[in-house]
Amino acid sequence: PPGQAADGRPATGSAGSWTDFTAHPGYRHLALMRQGASRLGLTDPFFKVHEGTAGATSTLEGRTFINFASYNYLGYSGDPRVNQAARDAVERYGTSVSASRAVSGERPIHQALEQALAEAYEAEDAVAFVSGHATNVSTLGYLLGPRDLVLHDEYIHNSALVGTQLSGAKRMPFPHNDAERLDALLERHRHRFERVLIIIEGLYSMDGDAPDLDRFVALKQRHDAWLMVDEAHALGVLGERGRGLYEHCGTSPGDVDIWMGTLSKTLAGCGGYIAGTRPLVEILRYFAPGFLYSVGMPAQVAAPALRALELMRAEPERVARLHAVSAYFLAQAQRRGLDTGYSIGAAVVPVIVGNSPLATRLCQALYDRGINVQPIVYPAVPENSARLRFFLSCDHTQEQIDRTLDVVHQQLDGTGTLR
Ligand code: PMP
Repeated sequence: PPGQAADGRPATGSAGSWTDFTAHPGYRHLALMRQGASRLGLTDPFFKVHEGTAGATSTLEGRTFINFASYNYLGYSGDPRVNQAARDAVERYGTSVSASRAVSGERPIHQALEQALAEAYEAEDAVAFVSGHATNVSTLGYLLGPRDLVLHDEYIHNSALVGTQLSGAKRMPFPHNDAERLDALLERHRHRFERVLIIIEGLYSMDGDAPDLDRFVALKQRHDAWLMVDEAHALGVLGERGRGLYEHCGTSPGDVDIWMGTLSKTLAGCGGYIAGTRPLVEILRYFAPGFLYSVGMPAQVAAPALRALELMRAEPERVARLHAVSAYFLAQAQRRGLDTGYSIGAAVVPVIVGNSPLATRLCQALYDRGINVQPIVYPAVPENSARLRFFLSCDHTQEQIDRTLDVVHQQLDGTGTLR
């Protein structure tokens, strides 16, 4: 309530006035969430402090946990070779490029990273932004306008939704992976709009499944639309060489108009990128606000991301290990009767338990046994599909997986959520 902090203590500020932030709807929402959790005896599962590198294991509260909450898919965050690239970059360039790239922030490492990203998609060019979220917001916000239409999978990431909103384009979601429904929407609405953009993801981060790229390419060609694929979770994960959705589906990467991805998952860094034709990349470099009006990526972020990308190319055995770990996790979870939703067993496997308190309680029970995994609760997913989301890495062992799934199974036995 206004005048009281979300933790129950009296708030500072002028209680009762709208200028007091405790009167903000967001604060009331937070207070309600905390009251509900405290009534159910649940501890807050968010903002846990990891004290070192987070990979297949991680240290929290001074203890080592088996960790499934970090997207360090190929183990490159914390890899000494990647760390060294960051150290060398700081020595050479300092800790900031001290300007937008357009006005004196440009460094050779930016160009080297972008060239390598373009090569990964066999594209003409690529541009790297300082944040993955900002990449989608700025790219979509800039490219589209009120006379345009965005058709997107209902499960696309918040950053693409926010970017679409910013653009003023009309937005229509289609049911998850449902190319037929998309076709029907295009049939009905295409003629009313100047430009149409279809947005899908390479690997869906809440469900761990991938779309059939060929079907979406066929639709975009038939209806004269652009196709954008967000590869945040697909790079390093899908395909034998980790090249992502196009390799997984055997599609030519040139059939996609806008490849988007992040440096924060497989590439062990922070930031995002767009790869595509030279005109696309050029207009983003000169006009996308989140690129032009933002500082250039620090060299000690760009250099390790480039090193991780080079290592990914040189070490397909890590990708193969990630595939084996993921397939093992999925098979063992299903063998225990757990509901893994649509997961295809590629780095992301949900265990759907069906309500937020149960997911949070299960996460706590695992934590008490030395296993760290994040619950995904309403509103991130519908309440009846609240889940634990397991991020796998090539470094997880069968023993860690068996131990974890045994605890999940024991905890869920008797709750009616086993298949
Ligand atoms: N796209 C997708 C599909 C994501 O899952 C995320 C966040 N994990 C982003 C974009 C934003 O990327 P970042 O966290 O690197 O800003």
